[in-house]
Amino acid sequence: MNLILLGLPGAGKGTQAARITDQYNIPHISTGDMFRAAMKNKTELGLQAKTYMDAGDLVPDEVTNGIVKERLLQDDAKRGFLLDGYPRTLNQARALQQALASSNRRLHHVLYIKVPKEILMERLTGRFMCSNCGATYHKVTNPPKVEGTCDKCGAHDFYQREDDKPETVENRINVNEEQTEVLAKYYGEQGLVREIDGERHPKEVFEDIKDILK
Ligand SMILES: [Zn+2]
Repeated sequence: MNLILLGLPGAGKGTQAARITDQYNIPHISTGDMFRAAMKNKTELGLQAKTYMDAGDLVPDEVTNGIVKERLLQDDAKRGFLLDGYPRTLNQARALQQALASSNRRLHHVLYIKVPKEILMERLTGRFMCSNCGATYHKVTNPPKVEGTCDKCGAHDFYQREDDKPETVENRINVNEEQTEVLAKYYGEQGLVREIDGERHPKEVFEDIKDILK
């Protein structure tokens, strides 16, 4: 089963990816892992990627596409794979199609986990920490037992990391939304997109995914 996982930050992709790879015994291929492996194994493309990253530059598409192509030819990916974080652009999507075609494969489903923006904001901006001991909390899913008091150390001062602040999160969501919509349209035209309501409990979301993959 050859799959792509689409969804905005906070949609629960990581959780579902773990369940999918367990259930179907296919590798979860994320761009970060792939880059790390290519650099660790010192493949030619891995070394090229490293040069760009060390210089603080974006890795160009040709290099990224090449790394993905190599990864998809490895033994564990022959029975199937779950791509996450790639493709990010139309160019990458086309390169992926060519790479798969060259080994007589094709995509089966593009799983698109959809969650309304307000919910994503709630999920992603809820995190805050204790200024004294660094304990992590979440306004909705994991608040301190006594409001305004750290469970661990009893301190009353909290702060939010820059990454978790509403402006930062909103910007991240918007950038991702544009990219994701372009891909959803591209794969939608090929009849590959399966939209999944990600606003529910992860268990229920996974039930939907299993139905789709039956
Ligand atoms: Zn504390």
